Amino acid sequence: MALAELAVEDSGRSDPLVIPMAAIGEKFADLYWAQTLPYASGAPGCSPAILAQNQGKQAAVINGLLRLRTAGMQTIGEARRSSDWPDVVRDIAQTVAGMPIQYLQNVGGTQVPFLYDYPLAERGKVNLKPGVAFMLRTFAALIQQLARAGWLNHVRQNQRNHQAIGRVDDLEQFMFGTPRAALAGVAPLLNQIQSKKCFYCGEGLPGTPDVDHFIPWIKYPRDLAHNFVLAHAGCNRRKSDMLAAERHLERWVMRNADYGDEIAGELKGFAADLTCSHRVAHWAYEQAITAGGSGWVVGRTTERLSTSCLAMLA
Ligand SMILES: [Zn+2]
Repeated sequence: MALAELAVEDSGRSDPLVIPMAAIGEKFADLYWAQTLPYASGAPGCSPAILAQNQGKQAAVINGLLRLRTAGMQTIGEARRSSDWPDVVRDIAQTVAGMPIQYLQNVGGTQVPFLYDYPLAERGKVNLKPGVAFMLRTFAALIQQLARAGWLNHVRQNQRNHQAIGRVDDLEQFMFGTPRAALAGVAPLLNQIQSKKCFYCGEGLPGTPDVDHFIPWIKYPRDLAHNFVLAHAGCNRRKSDMLAAERHLERWVMRNADYGDEIAGELKGFAADLTCSHRVAHWAYEQAITAGGSGWVVGRTTERLSTSCLAMLA
């Protein structure tokens, strides 16, 4: 999952791609952060607990992040700005280099080095083989879904978690989603930027608007601050899992040019790297254009996406 996300976010779009262990460490910190809070399904007889990721002692990644939680960091954004962050990430990177990187390519007990050579050719770096970054980018959404389903299953089946989970749960939302309250916190700033109008249809936004992921969550399930816009619930539903049409993309790029710093400054709970958001958008539009896909305009109207979308994001 981490390798696929990093391949998408790579600025040079290089292939073969060399990924520093530190970047992988940061990704692990991102992916595990939500899971350092106690979980309880709320089912009768269940008691809250921090989910066990292993059969034996707790995963070292979790323990490292718990140090930040204990020091009072509530969001991943705060954690990133704390002075302990580099140390924690370095420890996590060391753990990852020792364990997952060593075992990721084990198939039926045998090491099959199809992604990178192991032991690593260069200390502190993962050298992906030619073509691997391209495949990771092409199948990023599928890899995400498979990895999440596997991870969820792994946690759910761990006996040590049964007391917290019970028989019914919303574990997927807890492990990978953003709390509703955190998403709602995005609305005041965006309401101000959008003058209380729907990002897509431009009509007024009375009541509680929907926080929409401009690049749909299904395509890229990470909450990036610059990816949020406010929309009518109806417009959000109609857009659904589609990319927005070129006219919307143009406005989104302009919005980020005008208010990007403000968004990064105010929405501290989320990762807020504008370049990263635009790279992700470039990747998503490029995939859609290559496949001859359409973008959503309004209501039931869609139109073919053209390569001029990519020029906007270059
Ligand atoms: Zn609307």
